[in-house]
Amino acid sequence: MKTIASFTVNHDTLEKGMYISRIDGDVITYDIRMKKPNGGDYLPVPAMHTFEHLFATYARNSAFSDSVLYVGPMGCRTGFYFLLRDRVSSEEAIRLVQESFAFIAAFEGEIPGSKRWECGNYLEHDLAGAKAAAADMCRVLEGWTPAMLAY
Ligand SMILES: [Zn+2]
Repeated sequence: MKTIASFTVNHDTLEKGMYISRIDGDVITYDIRMKKPNGGDYLPVPAMHTFEHLFATYARNSAFSDSVLYVGPMGCRTGFYFLLRDRVSSEEAIRLVQESFAFIAAFEGEIPGSKRWECGNYLEHDLAGAKAAAADMCRVLEGWTPAMLAY
C-alpha cells in the first residue's frame, strides 16, 4: 500500500501550532498540533474528549458552521483535525480556531452532548483538562498568520 501523504511529514520536527496538511478539492484539512510529536506529553483521553465536544459545538454554531466538515482528535493524541471548505479564508480559519479555543478555555457549566444518550463514553470527560489545553493553545496561536500555516 502507498504511504499516505500525512505520514511523509517528518513528525519529529513539528512544533505546536496550526498547519494545512491537505487540500482535497474545496476541502482544507488543518492540523491543529497541540503537543510536540513524540515529546512524551500527550492529550489525556478524557480532556481530549471534552475538547472535541466543545470545539465542535463552537465551530458548528459559528458564522462558518456551513463550512465546517469535521472536527476530531488525532489518534496520536497530539492534536485535532479541522476540515473546512475553502470559502473560509486562512485568516478566518485561524480566527475561528482562536475563538473556539478561547470559548473552551473559559467554558463553565454542563459539557454539551455529555448526557448518556448523546455520547459514546459519557463518563470519560475532563473539563478542567480541556480548558487547560485550550488556554495553552490560545497562547501558542496568538498572532498566528496565514504564512505560518505551511508545514
Ligand atoms: Zn462524546
